[in-house]
Amino acid sequence: MNDCLFCKIIEKIIPADIVAENENVLAFKDIDSKAPTHILIIPKNHIESTLELTGDNINILGEMGLMANNIAKTEGIDEAGYRWVINTGINGGQSVYHIHLHLLGGRRLGWPPG
Ligand code: AMP
Ligand code: ZN
Repeated sequence: MNDCLFCKIIEKIIPADIVAENENVLAFKDIDSKAPTHILIIPKNHIESTLELTGDNINILGEMGLMANNIAKTEGIDEAGYRWVINTGINGGQSVYHIHLHLLGGRRLGWPPG
């Protein structure tokens, strides 16, 4: 039995505020937003982290990026700019082990990250 939180959101077992969806990718609002726009884009197939990306599944990252850019336009943050973030492992700050791209925008974001 897959006990992954984001797989349960994909299966609609756990509710989420979904903003976009296609055959391979799902996007929903982060429950604890760190910026006026904070959306998570995930593959519908369970991939734990960037460490599991291979030549066979790397295309999904492109699909996630295209969805993120479409959402950036509909959210109206494309002109001012935004950030993509993918955290990996403990030092990267990953807390959910189903790969996800954070789309952050709507304010000036600090750099470097904490
Ligand atoms: P990360 O720390 O990079 O693994 O990011 C995980 C993100 O998932 C965090 O920003 C959380 O706020 C978010 N999150 C956790 N549970 C949920 C949920 N049920 N619905 C939406 N976002 C969630
Ligand atoms: Zn999963």
